[in-house]
Amino acid sequence: RQELYRELRGKPSVTKDGVQIDLMMNAGLAVDLPQLLDSGAAGIGLFRTELQFMVASTFPRAEAQERLYRDVLEAADGKPVTFRTIDIGGDKVLPYFKGVGQEENPALGWRAVRLTLDRPGLLRTQMRALLKAAGGRELRVMLPMVTEISEIRQAREIIDREVRHLSRFAHHLPTKLKLGAMIEVPSLMWQLDELMSVVDFVSVGSNDLFQFVTATDRGNTQLAGRFEPISVPFLRLLRQIAEAGNRTGTSVTLCGELAGRPISAMALLGAGYRSISMSPAAIGPVKAMLIELPLERLTRLMNETLEAHSSEADVRAMLHAFAAEH
Ligand code: PEP
Ligand code: MG
Repeated sequence: RQELYRELRGKPSVTKDGVQIDLMMNAGLAVDLPQLLDSGAAGIGLFRTELQFMVASTFPRAEAQERLYRDVLEAADGKPVTFRTIDIGGDKVLPYFKGVGQEENPALGWRAVRLTLDRPGLLRTQMRALLKAAGGRELRVMLPMVTEISEIRQAREIIDREVRHLSRFAHHLPTKLKLGAMIEVPSLMWQLDELMSVVDFVSVGSNDLFQFVTATDRGNTQLAGRFEPISVPFLRLLRQIAEAGNRTGTSVTLCGELAGRPISAMALLGAGYRSISMSPAAIGPVKAMLIELPLERLTRLMNETLEAHSSEADVRAMLHAFAAEH
């Protein structure tokens, strides 16, 4: 199998019926970078910048942040990289940052973009590091755990101020700055068109989105059997996001764990996704799946299954039967 995946590395990522699919990888530390070449990923769809903060014993200095981001962009060598601004809080705690995680409901608490808007110094330092590291290149930045559009406007103001500051000091700026939002909080489902009119791209964080849509703690092992995103309601919801992306001409990626299992990746393609980001080890198996996939037929079958009153077992059975047949 490893042999096969290595062979697939240089092959185009196209379904049997000719649809191009972008397979991206998730990363977060410098040690992940060699995987970019080894896996044959089209780029880094999710760079979890908080990991640098989580392995440190104090806040990483601006210089250290800039160095890491520069190394990432060097390693990517022109392939797109999407940096997520620090997603601290919830399940991602920093022992040296009091107040985070010590809450009644950390998952619903002071975290991610909420935290960085309340402590704008953190976002300013990180943005300055990103802008400097990406001088002369395109910079893609996305905000985690966005709940309402106003948070994007607020973040953009902070970012714009950093851009103005750096240009005043004649710094070499990125050629282009693209700002995106993660769809992880269900409230965005009722603001999709507006959301897509204010960002350059969106990325679905299916781990958190599923957790919040179904009120199922993603880290609770007793609920592991219920953490099953291949279900009719969740797939309908994912399909709605992909449709909104088509309608508004906004690029949509999905970067949760769902993307990394061939059978669920297949479901995502059937639900309309054309770009997914996963752990690098999953790229080979997912690519092996999609090059054999008649996507148009799957999409038709998927739509029928989601329109019918299908159970979760029906969806699974349909996907497995389809996979076995093809
Ligand atoms: C997600 O929530 O699906 C996601 C990709 O982000 P993380 O797993 O880092 O919360
Ligand atoms: Mg998340």
